[in-house]
Amino acid sequence: MRKELEDREHRFLMQTYRRSEIDLVRGEGPLLFDSEGREYLDFLSGIAVTSLGHCHPELVETASSQMAELDHVSNLFFSEPMVDLAERLSLGSIGGPVFFCNSGTEANECAIKVARKHASRRGIASPEIITFKGGFHGRSYGALSATPAMAADEALAPMLPGFVAVDFDDSEALANAFTDNTAAVMMETIQGEAGVFPFSAETLVAARDLTREAGALLVFDEVQAGVGRTGSLWSFQQGPVQPDLMTSSKALGGGFPIGACVASRETGQVLEAGDHGSTFAGGPVASRVAAKVLDLVDRPELLHRVRELGERIRSGLEGVDGVVEVRGRGLMLGVGLDDGLDGPGIRDSLLAKGLILNSPRPDTLRLLPTFVMSDRQADDGVGLIAEAIGEAS
Ligand SMILES: *Cc1c(COP(=O)(O)O)cnc(C)c1O
Repeated sequence: MRKELEDREHRFLMQTYRRSEIDLVRGEGPLLFDSEGREYLDFLSGIAVTSLGHCHPELVETASSQMAELDHVSNLFFSEPMVDLAERLSLGSIGGPVFFCNSGTEANECAIKVARKHASRRGIASPEIITFKGGFHGRSYGALSATPAMAADEALAPMLPGFVAVDFDDSEALANAFTDNTAAVMMETIQGEAGVFPFSAETLVAARDLTREAGALLVFDEVQAGVGRTGSLWSFQQGPVQPDLMTSSKALGGGFPIGACVASRETGQVLEAGDHGSTFAGGPVASRVAAKVLDLVDRPELLHRVRELGERIRSGLEGVDGVVEVRGRGLMLGVGLDDGLDGPGIRDSLLAKGLILNSPRPDTLRLLPTFVMSDRQADDGVGLIAEAIGEAS
């Protein structure tokens, strides 16, 4: 069975991913089950997507009933689910209008477009967007060009012009990178794919002050850190500054694809009719599901629970031999490992023990658990991680 699936995968899919040894066939809350009936505790959430747990009954019901009633009408028509969701997103973040799309990459693509057109209105013919090394914004040519490590791949050249990368969390380098052509600073508040590295308040404040002085825009990519992951609905809400544009995706649809670029009131009119579009974007099913996700996540008790579980896991791991540091906030955690420990090896041994997480760099385990596990399950996860690190030491 497995061998046959693997053979067909190799034959019929472009080989852009290295996939796991196990085949997941069913999910329920914080748990996943493989084709042999083995149970796994999910500390990855499909990379920060299924934050409310797998196959949440209210999301299943919302998607199925909307699909049965009205599936898709295109953006040529008004749509109440879309407007409802936009209103919620806007009022719950930075207050301006929303552009919908289908992924994080596309949300950032929209932000890049807004930033460039905003600059054009200020008379800038060759706009520049400043990004940070280690940042990740997606895989289309715009988002890729904003992702310094991957933009360096010459086999994929040429990249889009107009992107300048500075060292991670270096506010002085950021200040020096500003020119008359600066259109925007685009950044995560906590770099996720890099291995969970939060920016200091100092750099966030510098980014806000510098963009404001220059008349440029500050773009926060909340694709991974947003929708409750850090213990507030949006990570920037824990301070110290607000962006002009915010992008969201991943957990926004709870497993259903949707992305959004939210503007401030001042930047919300930059894109006009014909400037941007997407066939599927903001469709009734995606919109209803995302609104339900926000209903469920944006509750003080749940956000408190995310912080509580995060602290529980953090303090459990901080005492473990072989753990150098635990970075991040809420349930977005990077576990820094001692020299000589091999993150991917520990990830594999954890998989064999029934715990799913990933290792975005050799010295780091990344934890993006679901918000719906019990204290006991959180402790079990910590225990397994400690055991696997102990065996690898
Ligand atoms: C995953 C991610 C993206 C890209 O999202 P896709 O849905 O894969 O296109 C962009 N930015 C951040 C911070 C991400 O974590």
